[in-house]
Amino acid sequence: MGGLAAALACGRVGWQPRVYEQAAKFTEVGAGIQLGPNATRILEGWGLARALSAVAAFPRQLRVRSAHDGAQLGLLRLGETIAERYGAPYATIHRADLQSVLLDAVRAAGIQPRLSSKVVAVLPSDDGVTVGIEAHGRVEGEALIGADGLWSSVRTQVWGDRPPRATGHLAYRGVIAQSDLPVALRSHDVNVWLGPRMHLVAYPVRRGSELNVVAIVQGRSPGPAEDWDQEALAVELQRAMGRLCTPLRDLVWAMPSWRLWSLNDRPPMRSAREMARGPVALLGDAAHPMRPYFAQGAGMAIEDAAELARLLAIKPGRDVDVPLALRGYALNRWRRGARVQALSRRNGRIFHATGLVRWGRDLALRMSGERLLDQPWLYGTAR
Ligand SMILES: Cc1cc2nc3c(=O)[nH]c(=O)nc-3n(C[C@H](O)[C@H](O)[C@H](O)COP(=O)(O)OP(=O)(O)OC[C@H]3O[C@@H](n4cnc5c(N)ncnc54)[C@H](O)[C@@H]3O)c2cc1C
Repeated sequence: MGGLAAALACGRVGWQPRVYEQAAKFTEVGAGIQLGPNATRILEGWGLARALSAVAAFPRQLRVRSAHDGAQLGLLRLGETIAERYGAPYATIHRADLQSVLLDAVRAAGIQPRLSSKVVAVLPSDDGVTVGIEAHGRVEGEALIGADGLWSSVRTQVWGDRPPRATGHLAYRGVIAQSDLPVALRSHDVNVWLGPRMHLVAYPVRRGSELNVVAIVQGRSPGPAEDWDQEALAVELQRAMGRLCTPLRDLVWAMPSWRLWSLNDRPPMRSAREMARGPVALLGDAAHPMRPYFAQGAGMAIEDAAELARLLAIKPGRDVDVPLALRGYALNRWRRGARVQALSRRNGRIFHATGLVRWGRDLALRMSGERLLDQPWLYGTAR
């Protein structure tokens, strides 16, 4: 996601990016992704408004509810309200559709991503960077942007960092056609159900024709930590979620199938040095993998791409000092990435709270839900 966004953005400012993707093809793996106005504003700026509205959904409101009794705890108006407030819409989209929107734009810009091209070696030098691609030999460039996700090999090779750590949570996801759901379970809103040590989010994708459901519970991955697409059973999810109100339980059992992945993250970044080093920079999850409680993983990758391109922009009569531009990118981006990482962790504790904290959370949401749920510092700017 971030790699395609960065290629598109840098292509727009005069570079000829090459994209190396380890997968043999662009697959449909994954389900929904939420995009706040901070991300859609950038996509619209890249001329993708029409492509986005052809595949995304634009929910009218975000409702927070109790998983136990279904009572509404808080509400944030999305739709026109948020679009007017921030100048861009709040969208929910299938991951494969966002990938297609970006891929089509990248290809239209004359960039052909190379598949089955796994980066296995990175050798930075004073003149640029040499990159080893498995079974394809070496390529050279002026910069390498490691947009290779949570398990970034660029990060391991250049920064020598250890792998991300399991958070002790599992994410179950499923997608269903709204027409296959009983009328009472269909929805064009974002619904967030909170319960002790769990929460579930449901929102429309594919212009509202499908409902995406993600539940986060405590647990350890039965399969490899890197696997985004493990088999899962409704009965295990129901057991992990505990007591649920009837509509929520019905939703869990209405899904034709569930897949799961385990959540892993890193501590929030502590300095710009974690994002750029000489001619190499990290972007998106490679730089700041985050828990999904703020729904900003894709949004932060898109913001990174926009800022990267702003600093690398080729202007007539001016040479770009690439390491300096990458350092500027890291300096401008690291604090915001770290803040979203930290707040995502904090949101997780609040979402899954028990006892008195849960009681206080529900009271605060009931008294001033819209104010607590809106995020002007996040949606209103991109830096
Ligand atoms: C298969 C998959 C399914 C996902 N499903 C969901 C979902 O359902 N909901 C959700 O909210 N988020 C999901 N995510 C995460 C979400 O896409 C990211 O958090 C977010 O979009 C940030 O994107 P990113 O570009 O930083 O990383 P990613 O989207 O993870 O992209 C990283 C890319 O780098 C490639 N890559 C990794 N190592 C190498 C290498 N050595 N050489 C070349 N290429 C390499 C990967 O194959 C991948 O395509 C998924 C990610 C993946 C990879």
